[in-house]
Amino acid sequence: MEEVKVYYVDVLLPLHLPGTYTYRVPREYNGQLSVGQRVVVQFGRQRLYSALVRRVHEEAPQWKVKYIMAILDPQPIVAERQMEFWEWLASYYMCYPGDVMAVALPAGMKLASESAVTIHPDFDGELSRLSKQEVQVVQLLSEHSVMKVDDIGCALGLKKVMPLIRTMIEREIIVMDEELKQRFVPRTSTYLRLAEPYRSEEAIRQLFDELERKKRTKQVELLMQLMQLSGFGYEPVAKRMLPQGSAMNTLLKNNILVAEERIESRIEHYGDGDLLDPRDIVLNEEQQAAFRQLSTPHSPLPTQLLYGVTSSGKTEVYIKLIDEVVRQGRQALLLLPEIALTTQVINRLKRYFGDKVGVYHSRFSASQRVEVWRRTHADGEGSFQVLLGARSALLLPFRDLALIIVDEEHDTSYKQQDPAPRYNARDAAVYLASMWKARVVLGSATPSVESYYNAQKGKYGLATLTQRYGGFSLPEVTVVDMREAYKNHEMKGHFSSTLLKAIDEALAHRQQVILYQNRRGFSLHLECDDCHQIPQCVHCDVSLVYHKATHSLRCHYCGYSIPVPTECPSCHSTHLRMVGVGTERIEEDLQIMYPDARVARMDLDSTLQKNQYLELLNDFQNRRIDILVGTQMVTKGLDFQHVSVVGVVNADNIINYPNFRSFERAFQQLTQVSGRAGRHGEGGRVIIQTFNPQHQVLSDVINNDYAGLFEEQIQERRVFRYPPFYRLVQITLKHRESMVLDAAADWLAAQLRATFAWRVMGPEYPLVSRIRALYLKQITLRFEKSEPIADAKRVMMQMADDLSKQEGWSNVSVIFDVDPY
Ligand code: ADP
Ligand code: ZN
Ligand code: ZN
Repeated sequence: MEEVKVYYVDVLLPLHLPGTYTYRVPREYNGQLSVGQRVVVQFGRQRLYSALVRRVHEEAPQWKVKYIMAILDPQPIVAERQMEFWEWLASYYMCYPGDVMAVALPAGMKLASESAVTIHPDFDGELSRLSKQEVQVVQLLSEHSVMKVDDIGCALGLKKVMPLIRTMIEREIIVMDEELKQRFVPRTSTYLRLAEPYRSEEAIRQLFDELERKKRTKQVELLMQLMQLSGFGYEPVAKRMLPQGSAMNTLLKNNILVAEERIESRIEHYGDGDLLDPRDIVLNEEQQAAFRQLSTPHSPLPTQLLYGVTSSGKTEVYIKLIDEVVRQGRQALLLLPEIALTTQVINRLKRYFGDKVGVYHSRFSASQRVEVWRRTHADGEGSFQVLLGARSALLLPFRDLALIIVDEEHDTSYKQQDPAPRYNARDAAVYLASMWKARVVLGSATPSVESYYNAQKGKYGLATLTQRYGGFSLPEVTVVDMREAYKNHEMKGHFSSTLLKAIDEALAHRQQVILYQNRRGFSLHLECDDCHQIPQCVHCDVSLVYHKATHSLRCHYCGYSIPVPTECPSCHSTHLRMVGVGTERIEEDLQIMYPDARVARMDLDSTLQKNQYLELLNDFQNRRIDILVGTQMVTKGLDFQHVSVVGVVNADNIINYPNFRSFERAFQQLTQVSGRAGRHGEGGRVIIQTFNPQHQVLSDVINNDYAGLFEEQIQERRVFRYPPFYRLVQITLKHRESMVLDAAADWLAAQLRATFAWRVMGPEYPLVSRIRALYLKQITLRFEKSEPIADAKRVMMQMADDLSKQEGWSNVSVIFDVDPY
């Protein structure tokens, strides 16, 4: 008799745990498992999880291992290379591959309610062939319909309920709950088309003649509609698009129309019929030169920076680059900052690449994301070749990736803050591309200091676009000294006469205005005139912000909110006043000054609901809004025809943010928001209000002097040991009690100093030292760029592990953030 082989699998679990876990493969699954498939395993005492197969082997472990319980996918859903990329992310960003898996897999593919089971839909109800315990389970489930495996165990008084559940699953008496079984059932709908005999002009003419003779006007109308919708091409038309009723039924009964079920994509469909051809885009000379450099591997450098001023046509160049890749049948990924993921860019791409474009977006539903996931991985019909998305799109299971474009590569939203992996998608893109031998294009009008430095050093290639497309000049930037303006009584509320005059002119010419204020809310805070206290959040170390719509004071960190107090909480004085100014206040003041203008506001509060953001942009695009007031949201990537004036209400809180990158960020934000003005015509104007008109950053913005800014910054970074010369690793410790936190942070800092000496800074309280009732302390390390730091990372993680094993410190959380900026 032939010997049956015994196989084992190492699986990855979507949990914050190091490494993989080994399970035994039941014999009946032999030959059915490969890397990247999902299986159900028991982990911990009573928990079931879906895990990803990382390795299949025959090496029996020394200890007894459990069997895998079920196979979820007949085919791999993740390629091996993708998992290798996850492992790299985990090691670089100091977390575990399981953390990456948890973030990478769309929710619809992770099994959140892992341990819930229900009766199998095909179970025949025949109890006689079941054991006593199995009958009990079936009875429980017919009462409760869905139950957690744990709860079944409790109800039956069974410690080891798993084997029972497993055999019942195998015998198809019960199934894991929908979430677990979710194999993504595609949505279908009914389509109608003309039956074969009528698909000729002659036949149609006869059909119409006959129906008209019989006075079947309803049927004629319906057929006319069908013809129109199908573009007279006999294409199927969705049934719901046509008038329902007896006319339709008769046409179906008489076999004039035929019905068919079609799988409907959850993502909007753009017909192939009127797609534009990217080869018809005529690039100007400068664009052509940039395109040539980026498209052909002129240099051996796989990564290139495209530095092009706002509205120079970077997107057009991207389209050309993507087209090359699509023609080769390969895949391109275009990463966009979260907020710029508007219909604007999506439509621009879809107009050229139609159904080949997949959009991956956190605002999409779970099933939409599962669909994009599958169509990215799939080959052939219906697969995506152009992927568009925010940073998480980098974690999609690509099939044949040839090009990654990172638009607005300097943007802070590429960096994930929470939870782990705290990765920078731009930097990770460069690594992912190296795995695929793909090319990377980093585009920006205001490159990050690190990328430009890499270009200067010859590590990246550099292509530049110095002119706006159409030869329009960059907007003229005026800085208004608010101190002077106040002195000369030229301020009206928060607006200087210079800014108001510019707004007047824009409105008179039916042009639009964007006003940028990086604080939301109505007014910053409520301040007591007597004791100068500002009401604080009880959970966080920050002041509460006034929100007029709800007449409340709110914490922007944790959402804590109280009604506006009538007296000072500290001294009970009733002399309270509002200080500072936010978007809500600006909007209201403007509406009073310009009663005839249509003023709208775009910030986190006004775009909480799903479509509000798109609606606002649409309204602005279609000139149903004259003045748009907003936070950072209005600064990024938008291309509007009729914006002639951009105003920055107060540049100082942008410039004075305490961080080594604050000047770089201020330059980027001010230049980006300025870039919204005058994109399609002459005479765009930007008015920046400030109390520090002499500030170097402002003169760099006025002169559009990126090179100047870069030189200043790079000198400082060198002197003060910051990136790109040093790598930073930030360690944040959190705990409920400040005494415990202090002791733990001091201990860790001492350990780190013993090994890393001068590279250790802190511990110190961050700017906001308490969030959601947890105290925070930070230790920052800097490492020479020339030294590899993989070993140092391992040492640091070990120390954190040691810390958690110390008496009383097991629940001090220690969070690593590599390249924390
Ligand atoms: P950027 O991405 O650099 O800000 P865009 O690609 O949005 O610039 O270009 C600005 C405007 O100019 C867009 O409306 C775009 O359609 C137009 N444009 C740029 N280059 C071309 C070109 N070669 N042919 C036609 N229109 C162009
Ligand atoms: Zn007071
Ligand atoms: Zn709070």
